[in-house]
Amino acid sequence: MSFGSAAARRGRRLPAVDPCPCGSGQDFSACCGPILDGAPARSPETLMRSRYTAFALGDVDHLLSSWHPTTRPETLELEDTWEWRRLDIVRAQDQGTHGIVEFRAHWHDATAHTVGELHEVSRFRQAAGRWFYVDGDAE
Ligand SMILES: [Zn+2]
Repeated sequence: MSFGSAAARRGRRLPAVDPCPCGSGQDFSACCGPILDGAPARSPETLMRSRYTAFALGDVDHLLSSWHPTTRPETLELEDTWEWRRLDIVRAQDQGTHGIVEFRAHWHDATAHTVGELHEVSRFRQAAGRWFYVDGDAE
């Protein structure tokens, strides 16, 4: 059992000029970096990209803090052997305080020597000026 900061996991940080893991083509410092550090995402797609980057860097704190309080799990364990290789955004829409993002996230399991993809339609909701991940349906 652990409490508070002992359980916090911010994951790795990349050099500011490294390409962002989300595949936007922008530098980390101009893309997901500030969102991982607490800046609000301007759309469901930018939040989705930052959550993918958080998976890639092991940033459990961002995954939990960007999760809507009504659906947020108590804790989250990431698959240590999974390497996230590429994110493809299939479509992204938002209207008012609701949004959806359909994506394909490609992973590689270095231990099992297998590859796969997560294809999901995620739902997002805006509250107090911030977007949150609510839940999703795997396709
Ligand atoms: Zn990014």
